[in-house]
Amino acid sequence: LISRKNQSADTVVTFGNVSIGGNNQPLIISGPCSVETVDQMNAVGAHLQTEGIRLLRGGAYKPRTSPYDFQGLGVEGLKILSETAKKYGMTCVSEIVRPEDIEMSCEYLDVIQIGARNMQNFELLKEAGSVKKPILLKRGLSATIEELLYAAEYIASRGNSQIILCERGIRTYEKATRNTLDISAVPILKQESHLPVIVDIAHSTGRKDIMFPIAKAALAVGADGLIIETHNEPAVALSDAKQQLDLNQFSTLLKQLRESGYLK
Ligand code: PEP
Ligand code: MN
Repeated sequence: LISRKNQSADTVVTFGNVSIGGNNQPLIISGPCSVETVDQMNAVGAHLQTEGIRLLRGGAYKPRTSPYDFQGLGVEGLKILSETAKKYGMTCVSEIVRPEDIEMSCEYLDVIQIGARNMQNFELLKEAGSVKKPILLKRGLSATIEELLYAAEYIASRGNSQIILCERGIRTYEKATRNTLDISAVPILKQESHLPVIVDIAHSTGRKDIMFPIAKAALAVGADGLIIETHNEPAVALSDAKQQLDLNQFSTLLKQLRESGYLK
């Protein structure tokens, strides 16, 4: 269903006043790694609104490596995210980790994210296929391109073809970046499938100092959007402190991308 052979035209995924894929301008998805407090989300939301960002992210169910790390606010986090997005005229996306939470989350979210660690959680994929919300599907930590496409096919096979694919880096022996961004995945995914493809430049690199060249690379190979984590005070963020841009750094990055013609 998701193959180019089955449909030659690009799928455009639409929610609220936002469309991604096809001839649409690249969509910038931004917001903190985790929803922490109402004040934090207001600070980030207000700033992103001034930059014209239309899709706000923020994790409420955090799949953390250590059980002792911040696990997210759960449904309270979804509520804060959703209210912040409404307040600033944005739509919102957040990760859901349990099949039984998918339906509940539709009340709060415009887009449901399936994270890298759950890319092959087949019961979650089937449930995501049964709702009428777009799904942002991230590539697994060590998943091949083919496995990502089959995961998307699980969702589509249950009746939901509003899917956005996300390259977020894969695990290799390289330690200079958090993950190795597989830039060739973007044109390959776009050839093999008609779905929009985005690049998460935060989780793939895990470092702020190369965001501009990596963002340019992603857009140059045809990405339909970017995920860029932002926080009002990254140094004290409860997760991914090292890779979240502060609000000024985010504005500088957007300015650089606009000035170099990569963004309008
Ligand atoms: C995220 O985007 O919040 C996240 C946890 O990323 P990933 O699933 O790609 O690790
Ligand atoms: Mn994160």
